[in-house]
Formats: sequence, structure tokens, C-alpha cells
Amino acid sequence: MLQNSRNDVLIIGGGVAGSAAAIALARQGRGVTLMERDSEPRHKVCGEFLSGEALEDLDALDIDVASLGAVPINYVRLAAARNAAQAPLPFPAASLTRKALDTALLAAAVKAGVRVETGRAVQSLLRTDANCWRATLEGGATHEASTAFLATGKHDLRGHGRPKNPQQWVAFKMYYKLSRDQTADLGDASELTLYAGGYGGIQPVENGVTNFCCVVQQRYLVEAGLRWELLIQRMQQDCPHLAKRLTGAVPLLDKPIAITHIPYGYMRHTTEDGLYCIGDQAAVIPSFTGDGISIALHTARSATSAYLAGEPAAAFQKNLRAAMKSQMRLAELAADGLNNALARAVLPFVLRVWPGAMRVTASLTRVTQPAHVVPQVLAG
Ligand SMILES: Cc1cc2nc3c(=O)[nH]c(=O)nc-3n(C[C@H](O)[C@H](O)[C@H](O)COP(=O)(O)OP(=O)(O)OC[C@H]3O[C@@H](n4cnc5c(N)ncnc54)[C@H](O)[C@@H]3O)c2cc1C
Repeated sequence: MLQNSRNDVLIIGGGVAGSAAAIALARQGRGVTLMERDSEPRHKVCGEFLSGEALEDLDALDIDVASLGAVPINYVRLAAARNAAQAPLPFPAASLTRKALDTALLAAAVKAGVRVETGRAVQSLLRTDANCWRATLEGGATHEASTAFLATGKHDLRGHGRPKNPQQWVAFKMYYKLSRDQTADLGDASELTLYAGGYGGIQPVENGVTNFCCVVQQRYLVEAGLRWELLIQRMQQDCPHLAKRLTGAVPLLDKPIAITHIPYGYMRHTTEDGLYCIGDQAAVIPSFTGDGISIALHTARSATSAYLAGEPAAAFQKNLRAAMKSQMRLAELAADGLNNALARAVLPFVLRVWPGAMRVTASLTRVTQPAHVVPQVLAG
């Protein structure tokens, strides 16, 4: 039977941004329906690094990451070829699998009174009149509200898409059990490894597992032979430090999780009345910053405040973009630097002689907090 409903707010997508917004709105007494296409949280392509700001936002939502098994991360390490250098992180940080985090956030949304519908994708989100957004789910059920929050992450909803990034990036995530020596050597660091066609982050997550999440240009993947086994070999040839790290490592997934067409650098600048775009639907920062979750939480928080304060969605989106612009540009410049052979050659040496460089970079790329939003950047 179709279950149609009328609500104050619809939220499309039950990842970090959607769940965080749902919790905030339900706590303010709004009737919220959140629609998530997966029947339960699953592993997602993500480095799973939680920056200081992300931890603060999660704490405000009563998500106790320590009790979920989050691992403290105290250092950032940069590795290219055989060289590595590290610096202490200038703020507290942690790592936690997305499966654990997304599960906790959805449970908190249910507890806050959100009507959560899982297991069916929203197929269309249409404005039927000046005061009504209608979401139609697979199977035909519809939900209506005067306001909608678009939080579908990397996935575009028909009619609300983003331009494709001409630079074709592909991202993979694999979990490993590292050898005992390499686990000790990695320690409590988030390690960024650089190679000719992109970069990868390696860091411990809960239960003694290590996350390796990498981003490669499409051409690098093609040159490597379009297969994960060949790609990971190629990355290890390019970055012997990574080869050392993975010596004796046991892969814990049958195959890596992958996503394509990541619109890095995207910032939404317009929206329709009553449609707030949050998380990756608002902005997609280069992954090496380890800041996407923080941005998802910030945009959820700032959009819900804007909605509750009666700020129109279009004004919110415009202000958000203005607030994030310089941070995004710096992150993109830094990402270009990581893809530059000379930069790859000298960066670890620079860090070795000047470990404070990483702290300086982190503070330079952090923007001051405007009325609504925003985050910080760090390498990780
Ligand atoms: C390679 C890589 C590494 C990264 N590493 C980090 C990191 O270490 N730290 C960090 O902070 N950030 C990192 N990020 C970024 C971070 O993962 C994202 O910015 C963050 O997940 C965005 O949250 P979101 O809520 O917008 O999207 P998501 O968390 O992706 O949630 C979107 C949800 O919408 C659902 N959905 C999609 N379409 C529909 C539909 N039609 N109907 C219903 N539901 C739908 C999806 O199933 C999903 O659950 C990384 C990103 C990449 C690509």
C-alpha cells in the first residue's frame, strides 16, 4: 500500500548531512520525513577522518564517537616515493567508519522523532505549487512538504543535477588488517601518500582495521589496466612508502568500494524556493582535506538555522557559497600542488625541515566563521 504523507520538511538522503539536519529540525518540533535509498547504512568511499569541527558538531548532536569506537588521530604524515614526514595535528581529530557513524546518526534521528523511510530511492522531487515539494519514491509513494532539504551526497537527483567535472576522478576504499609492525609504525597518524595519478589516505579506524582510501585520475586507472589489483600495484611502484605500509597487509573486503565522477570544487550557487541543498549537494571539497564530513555537518546546521529563522533558501545558498569560496579555492590549489611532480618530490623534505608547515597550511585554509557555516581544512 502506498503511504503518502504531508510534513513540515522533507529530507532526501540519510547520510551525514541529511541525518544531522533531520535531528536538528525534529528537536525544534518540526515534522520531518527523511528518505534514504539504502535499507541500512553501508560502507561508503570515505577516508573516515573526523576533524575537530566535525567532532564538535557530532557532540552537539549527542553522538558520542568514543563510545562507537572512534580512534584518536594526533598526527598527519605526508609520504611521497620513499620519504615521509609528519607534524602534530593542530586540533583534536579521530576516525570512525562511516557505517558506524551513519548508523548512529540515523538512530538519533529516529529518537528525535523523525519519520525515517529506508530502502527506497527518491525518484523525483518536484515543486507542485508555490507551497509544496513532492518527493516520489520507487514504488510510487509520495511525501509532501513546503520545504525540502537535498542531501543525496555524490548522487544527483533528476532535475537537480550538478555539472560534471571535466577532470575524471575515481575513488576507491579498501579496509586492511596491517601487519603488526606496520600498525605500530602508522600509529595514531593520518597518512597521505602521493603518487603520479592522485593520492591516498591511510589511517586506523575502529577494531584494529586500517582504511586505505584513494583518489586517482581516470587516465592513471586506464594506464594501470582498469583493475584494482593492477592499480594498487602501480600506486605501490610509484610510492614505495605505500608498498612498505601494505607489506603483509590482509584485505578485508572482497573488492574495494568505488565511486566515479566526483565533482571536486563544486559549489551550488542557486536554488529554488524552499529547497536547501546541504552536504556534498552544497559543496564538494577535495578529499585530501578530510573536511567533507565537517562541511556536511556545518551546512546541515546552518541550513536548519536559516530555515528556522525564515531565511529563504536562495539567500542561504548564496551566503553559503560566499562564505566557502576562499576555502574551496585554497583546497583546490593545494590539490593541484599534490598532483604536481615537483611538489611531490619536495613536500616531504619541506615538512621534515619545517614540521610546522602543516599547521600553517591548516590555519591558512581555515576560514573565519561567518553568520552561517563554515569549516576548516587540514591535510589528512
Ligand atoms: C575519496 C574520498 C575520501 C573522503 N575522505 C573524507 C575524510 O576522510 N573525511 C571527511 O570528512 N570527508 C571525506 N570525504 C568526503 C565525505 O565523504 C563527504 O563529503 C560526506 O560523506 C558528504 O556527506 P553527505 O551527507 O552530503 O553525503 P553522503 O554521506 O554520501 O549521504 C548521501 C545519502 O543520500 C542517499 N541517497 C542518494 N541518492 C538518494 C535518493 N535518490 N533517494 C534517497 N536517498 C538517496 C545515499 O544513499 C546516502 O546515504 C571523502 C570523500 C571521498 C570521495
